[in-house]
Amino acid sequence: MPNKRFTKSQPKSSITTLPKLGMDKIHLEEDFKRYYGHRLGRDEHCCSLNYAYEALSLAISDRLVERWKKTYNAYKETDCKRAYYLSMEFLMGRTLSNAMLNLGINNLVEKAMYDLGLDLEELIESEPDAGLGNGGLGRLAACFIDSCATLQLPVTGYGLRYEYGMFSQIIINGEQVEKPDHWLRNGNIWEIERLEYKQRIKFGGRTESHIDEHGNKRVCWVDTHDVLAVPFDTPVPGYRNGTVNTLRLWKATATEEFDLDDFNAGDYAEAVAAKNTAENITMVLYPNDANENGKALRLKQQYVLASASLQDVIETWVGRHGNDFSEFAEKNCFQLNDTHPSIAVAELMRLLMDIHGLTWDEAWSITSKTMAYTNHTLLPEALEKWSVNLFRQMLPRLLEIIFDINAHFLAEVSSRWPGDLDRLRRMSLIEEGHEQQVRMAYLAIVGSFSVNGVAELHSKLLQQGLFRDFYELWPEKFNNKTNGVTPRRWLASCNPELSELITQTIGDGWLTDLTLLKKLESHADDKAFRKRWFEVKQKAKQRLINYKKLEHDIDINANALFDVQVKRIHEYKRQLLNVLHVVHLYDRIKRGDTAQWTNRCVLIGGKAAPGYYMAKKIIKLINNVANVINNDPDIGDKLKLIFLPNYRVSAMEIICPGADLSEQISTAGKEASGTGNMKFMMNGALTIGTLDGANIEIREEVGDENFFLFGLTEEQVEAMRHHYDPASIVNGDEDLRRTMLLLECGHFNQFEPGIFDPILASLKSPHDPWMTIADFRSYVEAQNRAEAAYQDKERWTRMSIVNCANSGKFSTDRTIAEYNDEIWRLTPIDPEKQG
Ligand SMILES: *Cc1c(COP(=O)(O)O)cnc(C)c1O
Repeated sequence: MPNKRFTKSQPKSSITTLPKLGMDKIHLEEDFKRYYGHRLGRDEHCCSLNYAYEALSLAISDRLVERWKKTYNAYKETDCKRAYYLSMEFLMGRTLSNAMLNLGINNLVEKAMYDLGLDLEELIESEPDAGLGNGGLGRLAACFIDSCATLQLPVTGYGLRYEYGMFSQIIINGEQVEKPDHWLRNGNIWEIERLEYKQRIKFGGRTESHIDEHGNKRVCWVDTHDVLAVPFDTPVPGYRNGTVNTLRLWKATATEEFDLDDFNAGDYAEAVAAKNTAENITMVLYPNDANENGKALRLKQQYVLASASLQDVIETWVGRHGNDFSEFAEKNCFQLNDTHPSIAVAELMRLLMDIHGLTWDEAWSITSKTMAYTNHTLLPEALEKWSVNLFRQMLPRLLEIIFDINAHFLAEVSSRWPGDLDRLRRMSLIEEGHEQQVRMAYLAIVGSFSVNGVAELHSKLLQQGLFRDFYELWPEKFNNKTNGVTPRRWLASCNPELSELITQTIGDGWLTDLTLLKKLESHADDKAFRKRWFEVKQKAKQRLINYKKLEHDIDINANALFDVQVKRIHEYKRQLLNVLHVVHLYDRIKRGDTAQWTNRCVLIGGKAAPGYYMAKKIIKLINNVANVINNDPDIGDKLKLIFLPNYRVSAMEIICPGADLSEQISTAGKEASGTGNMKFMMNGALTIGTLDGANIEIREEVGDENFFLFGLTEEQVEAMRHHYDPASIVNGDEDLRRTMLLLECGHFNQFEPGIFDPILASLKSPHDPWMTIADFRSYVEAQNRAEAAYQDKERWTRMSIVNCANSGKFSTDRTIAEYNDEIWRLTPIDPEKQG
């Protein structure tokens, strides 16, 4: 077995004392050649890019691993407090270019590859995305661990190693078709399998209780069907600081003894084949964003993540402190990324009581000081609930613990509000009804010492709405942590030309202190600087055109206003409002209303959850409208509509530098934060947006005159619900009436009658939760203001500079500093200043 311990042989410590790896061109070249020629056994006749990518990655990875061990030892020696980011999703994207940037060897490697006749850009692009997430929530986790390493905080990311990540999207006849994303097909050189840290995870069975020798009730969970969780570690480098943290992803596998005992020899092949049931658990990422669907396999995934990660942390703890947990809560903190890993609350109770013998009160005191919960959505359909029956079958011991937590909790509520039965019913962890359900968000709140939202408005709405009862009980638990994005990936790496211009102008301190971008503001008045800024933006637009050209041959003019909406397709994000505006522009051109026209190229991209009927219809509508507009010679350069297929991290790295206008047009009160909005702003796009999520804070930072605001406020949306009358709004607005008519008469679906009826019905329904029609007029007016601004190139460029200059708040370095100051309370550790 690969995980067998040494018995006769014992490695000397010299086994791990290695000569320091050279960070110069010569050494990198040498290592590259050795990997390419020896380890991979290729020569100059090999025409597969992949091997050159792999050889380079191995050389770079060695340099990360060197720093990784040092960081690991520094954390161990200082016995520092640690935090763990538990997330079902890490949307990492590519690793190679980020590793080179953070090690500070990107320019040097480019030269080295050039001298070997290789184009570094081509190698970088041959790496598949690690797409282990759906959208904003998963990408946030990736940005967070980048910032933790840059701030030298001892934080480990814990997640799942899905064999298949987010599906890849192709468009056939205007419709989304999903293709499996086998991202590990060519191997993954960045990960290290650590069989020695595998953990056993229990499922099924039943519980037994007995009284131990001290007279305490003890519970055993028996007759279980176990699986193993095997960790795969990926290094997470900080920005040029010697710190390399860990992302530990669990893969589910069969136990060694895997039920071969249960089968007689005749069933050997079937017994081996049954290994699949264990491996299935981490086979695929669920492709639903902001919406859960109650599948048993998903609960299994969540439990594997929670149990394996907690056992891993406890194993390390016991290795050092034995069974003394008195300081566990002072030295460990778990941040739960949404409710997905919230079963960890009950699992930590189980491990502390059933395995380590603590009493209920001791275990609860530790658990409730160790867990912190981040909420990511106000949409009620996204709040996870699991059927009690499913729980009882799959995790019987955890259900008992949840019932006990609930009993203690409801006793606390009763003593605070005696006799308030309705409140007890509302707050119970168990929802009654024809089928009892466990409310996972409530479990997370009850078990955590901190509950945060992800933008000011979102945190406020949580306290006033969704979690109001809990806020009344424990106001001190609630706080806000406005999201961010890492400026390394989302400015330095994705927009090297703009970064170079910024660094030439204000120095390079902004990479680790993004508030320094503010210094750009004074240069907005410098005409020569504006010219350079404009030229860089035009180049990025051309890069975006070239990227798009790979798939479809549509002529796009880089002088047009690039109007971009990329994000998951969801009704609340209102891609439909965008389409209504595009159809309105088309109608204006067709009726000759084109005085003072601004050429515009509208780019829309995003994936729909495979089971989300309306989202898929919206993709079809975008493509059908695009087809009509892009093939009409009357329209020409005035208007283009383009669907960008397979939106993902590596696509956004090309898209956000090339955007002029960023569409952030969700119904107010529905987008928790948004982070796409921040990437665009950082790259000098202007925002057209509602007062929703972090848009509000973006507008505060950049000033109203540099932001195109429109739409109802959250309060106005809620007030209008009772008397929303879209039909009368349509009738009272000639532009909107004509736009709806074009859609309704089948102009965009001549040979596909009726296919957009469900979309039209939802737009016209007085019960449309997203109230798209209500914001049409205000949206069109904001678009007109954007066009007028774009007509004046000097003015637009100035606004672009001011947007970038004021994006400093939206670095995850700021977000993580706040998590650390107010929740985790970790001390930064510099591995280079340790022993
Ligand atoms: C940033 C990002 C998101 C989040 O976008 P929003 O506009 O905030 O929803 C989703 N997917 C990818 C690939 C991203 O890079």
